[in-house]
Amino acid sequence: MLKTFRGGIHPPYNKDFTKHKPVERAKLPDRVIIPMSQHVGAPCEPIVKVGDLVKKGQKIGEAKAFVSAPIHASISGKVTAVEPKPHPGGGMVMSVVIESDGKDELFEGIKTPKPLAELTPDEIKNLIRESGIVGMGGAGFPTQVKLSPPPGKTIDTIIVNGAECEPYLTADHRLMVERPDDVVLGLEAIMKATGVKNGYIAIEENKPDAIEAIRKAIQAKDGIELVELATKYPQGGEKQLINAVTGREVPSGGLPMDVHVIVDNAGTCAAIANAIKTGMPLVERITTVTGTGVNEPKNLLIRVGTPFSEIIEQCGGFKGEVGKVIMGGPMMGLAQSVLDVPAVKGTSGILVLAKNDVNLSEQSPCIRCARCVDACPIHLLPTTLGKFAERGMWTEAEEYHALDCIECGCCAYVCAAHIPLTQLIRLAKNHIVASKKK
Ligand code: SF4
Ligand code: SF4
Repeated sequence: MLKTFRGGIHPPYNKDFTKHKPVERAKLPDRVIIPMSQHVGAPCEPIVKVGDLVKKGQKIGEAKAFVSAPIHASISGKVTAVEPKPHPGGGMVMSVVIESDGKDELFEGIKTPKPLAELTPDEIKNLIRESGIVGMGGAGFPTQVKLSPPPGKTIDTIIVNGAECEPYLTADHRLMVERPDDVVLGLEAIMKATGVKNGYIAIEENKPDAIEAIRKAIQAKDGIELVELATKYPQGGEKQLINAVTGREVPSGGLPMDVHVIVDNAGTCAAIANAIKTGMPLVERITTVTGTGVNEPKNLLIRVGTPFSEIIEQCGGFKGEVGKVIMGGPMMGLAQSVLDVPAVKGTSGILVLAKNDVNLSEQSPCIRCARCVDACPIHLLPTTLGKFAERGMWTEAEEYHALDCIECGCCAYVCAAHIPLTQLIRLAKNHIVASKKK
């Protein structure tokens, strides 16, 4: 039987735009804007200045804190600015702008490491850190930090998240079809680095070609199993995935490590494999460019720092009147107000919706239908939390576990009254977190 979790929704998946399209390498960008914060944790400090010549793979941002990840040049060329620039995650972030010299020269310091069999666990973790690898499903948590649990926390299971449950996105799907051995090599590296013997690669059943490719790739591998998941949103949420694969429940306020599990995205595993095979840090990724508002939807291998406008242009530009541009998928993605923001390590997709496809329904009073309660995968009471947020009742929102909300958007999606529940709960979370910092 297919594994899954309680709650969740079945939105239209709309993956047909790109699910059969092989990944294309995007053309070399003329200019990249590389933010010094593309991860959870402390931003990097720029270590280049205007006028410097840099090469592909060269470190340009130093991570000085433990929870951080260094940042590298994704093209060769000249640094033309080191200044705050708009970030697709919102606000202005210190960024390094590089104008391409058209040569795409590799930094001399990039050396192919020893094969995985000869690397020690510490060498693997160090390679992952120095390669700037972060969670590529969008969360951007530094991977090496995840692989170094604090004393007292034991890990017995690694799960590779190949669910890709967000509608429209197919970047992980195509990666698993086209480079299954890299996904497996990345998992093996994580298992060796953590000393864990059980690894799972979990994929929703709506990706049969990816399931077949991974099945073949793990045939002769000890301790690695494939898990087929029901197609349901948000199947790829960490807590939902852990529950579906292992039956364990991450406690309220807890982390996967509290139930002895580490979850890493399929793209993260492939980035680790690339670092092991070539020594290349994370400077490019697969991004799905899709939706009713773009002429030629594609899966593109893009350089980190490429402006959205250039990426969309390579997909034939906008089709008709555009309603919304989103980084990521429609459920958890971030709406963009300008197009000169750059793709970052976590840019799994750029979704362009035509004006007619943007829901502008009027909000009305709650009819107490409880649909939001049935849909919530965390078993919260979204309608109650929404009311607390509207009234500024932050203490009550915290008592009702607002901080456990994963902002999946299920409640707002099903709400009969079109109440922006997720936005309201996010507001409550922000207030609660801010009050704790005082
Ligand atoms: S309350 Fe949070 S976790 Fe629950 S459905 Fe809404 S957005 Fe998702
Ligand atoms: S789904 Fe909307 S209308 Fe129904 S109970 Fe929840 S908040 Fe109220």
